[in-house]
Amino acid sequence: MNDFMDRDYHAKPLLGVEVNDDDAQRQRVTSPYDRRQVVGSVQWATRAQAEQAVEIAWQAFPRWSETPVEERAAILERHADLMETHLAELMTLCSREGGKLLTDGVDEIREAVDFCRYYAARSRELFAEPTSLPGPTGESNELMLGGKGVFAAISPWNFPVAIFTGQLVAAAVAGNTVVAKPAEQTSLVANRVIELLFEAGMPRDVVQLLPGDGPTVGSVLSSDPRITGVVFTGSTATAQIINRALAARENAPLPTLIAETGGMNAMIVDSTALPEQVVADVVHSAFQSAGQRCSALRVLYLQDDIADRVIEILRGAMAELRIGDPRDLGTDVGPVIDEEAREGLLAHVEKMKAEGRLLAEAQLDPAHTDNGTFVAPMAFRIDGIASMESEQFGPLLHIARYRADKLDEVIDAINAKGFGLTFGVHSRNESFTDYVASRIRVGNVYVNRDIIGAVVGVQPFGGQGFSGTGPKAGGPHYLLRFATEKTRTINT
Ligand code: ADP
Repeated sequence: MNDFMDRDYHAKPLLGVEVNDDDAQRQRVTSPYDRRQVVGSVQWATRAQAEQAVEIAWQAFPRWSETPVEERAAILERHADLMETHLAELMTLCSREGGKLLTDGVDEIREAVDFCRYYAARSRELFAEPTSLPGPTGESNELMLGGKGVFAAISPWNFPVAIFTGQLVAAAVAGNTVVAKPAEQTSLVANRVIELLFEAGMPRDVVQLLPGDGPTVGSVLSSDPRITGVVFTGSTATAQIINRALAARENAPLPTLIAETGGMNAMIVDSTALPEQVVADVVHSAFQSAGQRCSALRVLYLQDDIADRVIEILRGAMAELRIGDPRDLGTDVGPVIDEEAREGLLAHVEKMKAEGRLLAEAQLDPAHTDNGTFVAPMAFRIDGIASMESEQFGPLLHIARYRADKLDEVIDAINAKGFGLTFGVHSRNESFTDYVASRIRVGNVYVNRDIIGAVVGVQPFGGQGFSGTGPKAGGPHYLLRFATEKTRTINT
């Protein structure tokens, strides 16, 4: 057996200077699928360490921004190679610490690898040479891209390797230094990724790691005038707190905020759709990763004529779902991230059940789920997306029926909700899919398939409105938001 299956991991602030290991500050990390299993411990950063990290990154910026882009890109490529070599370890740690299915873990590490290679390639295209611009005779004009300064990279627990890595390598390859704050729940895997990044040659003062409490570390970062920008993925509410803190700084340059936030993703199915395919795609979109994806399906609109058939097949499919240990290859749905998440979801379940809205429910087997933070996948009947008060970040699906003559009202209701992340449409009528897809205001539209794919460079990911600022992660424009533009006009 590989030792990473049961190794004790430890994470602590990595600041480019030696940090004392403080036993008193250590917090125990246990597994979401079995709270009796210890994965390791983490020493959270203090406010003083957060300030120190910013200072080190600030000092490192001038030298790093002048480091040739080829050198910066080569570090990302070596990091990608190292993550591939350590894929088994990283995906196992994602399972042990974050409760991810091993198959989700593979996708996750592959996505992080893709981010590194894609941003390395894109940085060479964008940053290596100045772009010549047309101009009047007698002068030449050039445009150069360079780093902006120090970026804070604040990431969530649901993609603890892919999003965490994607944010910080994008900022770094564009010439910025970075202070990275991973989510509280997934510090161990973040620490391991940073160790590999240092092994790949990233200078230790260019990327700092601050495991820690969001409001404590986050408020230091977002109020420090030396922070040029924040790249953030998490809830819309936290993005707004960060935005306000950045705006309230005095004597600070106007900041860049790149935020990818919540979703309230919908799918519309008309009566020409194939019910079996719809159900396969709905189950995948709503319950994969226990519904803990920004892209997951939350509200399914079924045209009246097809609704009963789809719900009947869905009930059968949900009864088949196996819920349990994410390391078991036969498991379909693992735990949710922690007790707080479980309690929040169960409060919603209770309310929906009390209102008589339960349509379908998967079964938990206590032998596999009693010691972890599990929530059974469920589907509830609702009147429409307008009644959804908040995103339920777990395996809970909401189903509404609509009449064909009310389609425009459904589209308007989805758009009015203001969360424009992912959207799906299922129909064999091409003019229907074209009509719906063109009117819906979201970042990623999926036609006749599930709604949770985001392949780097193929389906760049990101929303609009309450779902984020753009540009899309893994897309051709992403690095540009991390860069300054400087022109040079020469009288010839
Ligand atoms: P989630 O609901 O997905 O946990 P959050 O927005 O709370 O979403 O968390 C996303 C990231 O934001 C985490 O790394 C968390 O620690 C961090 N965070 C939480 N509160 C703050 C804050 N006030 N300032 C900056 N970062 C924060």
